Amino acid sequence: MQRQTATSTEPAQEADQEVVVSCPATGERVGAVPVTPRPEIDAAAARLRGAQPAWQAMGTQGRAEWLGKWRDWLLDHEDELLNLLQRESGKSWGDTALEVPFGTVFINYWAENAAKFLADEAVSPTGVANAVKQLKIMYEPYPLVGVITPWNGPLTGPLLDIPAALMAGCAVLSKPSEFSPLVWQSAVAGWKEIGAPDVLDAVYGFGETGSAVVDLVDFVMFTGSVNTGKRIAVAAAQRLIPCSLELGGKDAMIVCADADVDRAVEGALWGGFVNAGQFCIAVERVYVEEPVYDEFVQKLVSRTAQLRLGMDTEHHYSADIGAMATRQQLDIVSRHVDDAVSKGAKVLIGGKARDDGLFYEPTVMVDVDHGMDCMREETFGPTLPVMKVRDIREAMEKANDSRFGLAGSIWTRDKAKAIALARQFNTGLVHINSVMLGAGQAPVPFGGWNDSGLGFRSGGAAGIRKYCRTKSIVADRVAMKKEVNWYPYTPRKGKFQSAMARLVGARDWRRRLGK
Ligand code: NAD
Repeated sequence: MQRQTATSTEPAQEADQEVVVSCPATGERVGAVPVTPRPEIDAAAARLRGAQPAWQAMGTQGRAEWLGKWRDWLLDHEDELLNLLQRESGKSWGDTALEVPFGTVFINYWAENAAKFLADEAVSPTGVANAVKQLKIMYEPYPLVGVITPWNGPLTGPLLDIPAALMAGCAVLSKPSEFSPLVWQSAVAGWKEIGAPDVLDAVYGFGETGSAVVDLVDFVMFTGSVNTGKRIAVAAAQRLIPCSLELGGKDAMIVCADADVDRAVEGALWGGFVNAGQFCIAVERVYVEEPVYDEFVQKLVSRTAQLRLGMDTEHHYSADIGAMATRQQLDIVSRHVDDAVSKGAKVLIGGKARDDGLFYEPTVMVDVDHGMDCMREETFGPTLPVMKVRDIREAMEKANDSRFGLAGSIWTRDKAKAIALARQFNTGLVHINSVMLGAGQAPVPFGGWNDSGLGFRSGGAAGIRKYCRTKSIVADRVAMKKEVNWYPYTPRKGKFQSAMARLVGARDWRRRLGK
């Protein structure tokens, strides 16, 4: 089946069952990867399951050594990986160059902390009657984890989750996006090249391939759109397996009257336009308090005018904003801007697609309101709609007027006010005087509320324990012939037991001593 023309930048599944990848910036064919037939997906899952027990038995130190070798391989092949990644995604080199360093932070974090996070945990019993019990929690990996990722971070997407799952002792079957599968294919080839155990593989194709992965694994880690996420949640529920869903966002930025306006402008620029706005926690809408609104907008427009749109070459850093990854994504951005303009918004800069490649000009819009798609639906593009608000109360009401709840940011010089306002955000992550970087903080959970997801990634101990089933061990400190509540039941013993239960269970003397 041919989904697109040869010059299109959409992936095409051709008659010979290949996903063909073209560069979104130039339209050139970058490469192709065969669609993995279902029997091969089944076989890969079975193989990975077969290898997993030895991987688990190797322990955290042994696993960390393999992850370390893989990190070294990724660093040694950084240029060739990034070159491929840039061509299949159309990013600027500056955006491209973020991906390997970001991934290595996560590999190192889980490799260095897994032993501590996964150690058996001794916990205290509760209640006098249980005083002699010895309690322990063990963490045992789900044998096979499926990691399904989107196109916006072809390397960082998988690397945000896979190192934690591998360090937990799981095997991982990954499924990269059909729009950018090539660099991940190389990264997985690197795992094989270093001779690592057969516990990481990838399968390729479209939605059906992802759905096959969901059929075969014990835990699904999914990143992508809300619609696909909901479909996966249903499929996982039918199999009674857990899933973690990292979905879309509509992140609000609130600029208070006492903010450092210059810093806020720079934050809005990078947070709104990095990766051409194609990050789930990109700034999607901005609310500015009246006293600093004019200054903020004027500075934002003049800084936007200095940004360079295009796909530069390796190490050149001569472009800031790259291409939209897909024609479909470009169309969504155009539609949101056109909808806003038709309802009265003013475009101060940008507002149109370029003729060559899938580029959309960085755009600042004002006179926007919540009747417009650009304020309510995920745009995932280089647009910053800016709204003037009377006060913080109105800003917060608007920020929370959304079905999404991924992240947000608050900009003020008053730290106490920032914390108080952060509590009011209906999101899983709040930045104070910053943007986006929360996604890179492995020690804190990163998860969306409402339509933005289910569960979380990262989050210190919880971020690796989520790939494990718990096993509780209940033993006795002292061995008695038998427990007092075991047979035989007798009136005398029964009376004694209820008196004791009352004595330790009640919290006032009348109930302790009688009825
Ligand atoms: P998508 O949902 O279309 O696809 C994501 C992945 O799911 C792809 O690999 C795709 O092949 C696969 N897939 C499609 N149908 C499937 C099915 N029925 N079963 C299993 N797998 C299936 O998303 P996209 O357009 O590639 O990515 C963009 C979205 O991802 C945006 O909404 C963005 O906000 C979101 N995203 C979220 C985060 C986060 O951490 N919250 C990070 C990055 C991107």
